[in-house]
Amino acid sequence: MTPGAAQGSGSGAERLRADVGRAACENLLLVFGDQLTTRVPAFDAIDVGRDVVMMAEVAEEATHVASHRQRTTLFLSAMRHFALELVEAGHRVRYVRLDDAHNTQSLDAELRRAAEMLEPERVHVTRPGEHRVMGMVESWKSDLGVPVEVHEDTHFLVTPGEFERWASERKSLVMEHFYRERRRRQRVLLTKDGSPVGGSWNYDKENRRAFKRAPEVRTPYMARPDAVTREVMALVERRFPDAPGRMESFGWPVTRREARRALRDFIERRLPGFGAHQDAMWSGEPWLSHSRLSAAINLHLLDPGEVVDAAIEAYEAGDAPLNSVEGFVRQIIGWREFIRGVYWSEGPGYPERNGLGHDGALPEFYWTGRTEMSCMRDSVGQVLDHAYGHHIQRLMVTGNFALIAGIDPGAVRDWYLGMYVDAVDWVTAPNTVGMALHADGGVVGTKPYAASGKYIQRMSNACGGCRYDPSQRTGEKACPFSTFYWDFLLRHERRFRSNPRMNLTLKNLDRLTDAEKRAIREHASTLRGRLGIA
Ligand code: SF4
Repeated sequence: MTPGAAQGSGSGAERLRADVGRAACENLLLVFGDQLTTRVPAFDAIDVGRDVVMMAEVAEEATHVASHRQRTTLFLSAMRHFALELVEAGHRVRYVRLDDAHNTQSLDAELRRAAEMLEPERVHVTRPGEHRVMGMVESWKSDLGVPVEVHEDTHFLVTPGEFERWASERKSLVMEHFYRERRRRQRVLLTKDGSPVGGSWNYDKENRRAFKRAPEVRTPYMARPDAVTREVMALVERRFPDAPGRMESFGWPVTRREARRALRDFIERRLPGFGAHQDAMWSGEPWLSHSRLSAAINLHLLDPGEVVDAAIEAYEAGDAPLNSVEGFVRQIIGWREFIRGVYWSEGPGYPERNGLGHDGALPEFYWTGRTEMSCMRDSVGQVLDHAYGHHIQRLMVTGNFALIAGIDPGAVRDWYLGMYVDAVDWVTAPNTVGMALHADGGVVGTKPYAASGKYIQRMSNACGGCRYDPSQRTGEKACPFSTFYWDFLLRHERRFRSNPRMNLTLKNLDRLTDAEKRAIREHASTLRGRLGIA
């Protein structure tokens, strides 16, 4: 039996201990909370049973931004399950629980304490997923007094160095170019002569359909909280009573086994219908045919390679159409890797960018869902219920609104980082600051994803039950999305004139009379005051 770990027959936290004995170890491996896999080189560097694997639950990770109670629960429960699996496999695991009496609640302090106690000859980490944590690692390298080795995170398909080399050969970073190169390199959905299977690199045109009537949704697999998870749920409720969001529906996979089951469920039951309606929204239907796998992948419970392989196998077996499979594969080997590459190549200042100079306050309804805008009520309400939204809700409802209303990107970034169950900084920062808010100077997108209420009307059923009218931009019935959209164009007109991709949009702006422009500006200003933005 490993000293101090896995003792007793309890079902959860009582089986995890910070005390693994004082016997010094040669190697101390610190595992971060979003790296729950042994399939990385850092684990090859340690000796099972002699060296120590360390994990720590610290309050600073759950409170540096306001974190949804399901998100905090998922991280802690998945960490505990992973640690228990390591113990079962014979590892010496030093596990610091959130409610341990001596917990300093700081990852930095916990690592220093462990290094002092265990006197390792070397500390190992896998490259973290956040500049903030990388800063910590750098400080350990300089003053811990023990060599610190940073191993590559091979869970990802492209290293930051490889992305950097790709980026350095280009004037601008276009995801589509990156994606095609990855398809070629990994030989994904290619024919023998190297051309794309089906004759096209993407099927976006087929994949932007709206629902004409209520969709028939195949309810996804929901993992049932076991004793460990239930214990964590109670802990989170006790320790973070003011945390946003609701806990009741928690059903996220917290182990690799559950994550594999969720993958099978998606591939067999929802992937076939995923493609055509991947951009569509429907009130009261949070999941539609989306995979719900991003949290499990971002925690490393699933590897992107196995997820892509499973989708391609379904296509080759004739169980899923090409437009669905290609659309899904693009999200995994295209967007996901591209976004991470941008995060590291743009440096630690990237999440702070505010290229459009927006400084509005985040409206209260982002925390409560209480608003007369049906689309926003649906999207935010769903986030509060499930800590989840699919990409179009994030980009074209909550993100689009923040962009066109002129809300401070830092406040929006923190909201996204805390409120979604799959949020970690490397993915959230480029997706909000870059893609949704166009605040990164055009690195992720060459033009802003700004849209009026008419886009939402086309892609959802939300406008039918709304007190506003998407075709009106001024007056009491004016849709706030439509008012803010035109106001956004007016406010940034001079900047956008130099962007050829905005020409068509600005032509529409040119059709407005001066009186119409004045009325839009006035109504936007009134709205900003009413919503607590200004
Ligand atoms: Fe949203 Fe405007 Fe449609 Fe209402 S009318 S649901 S606010 S887009």
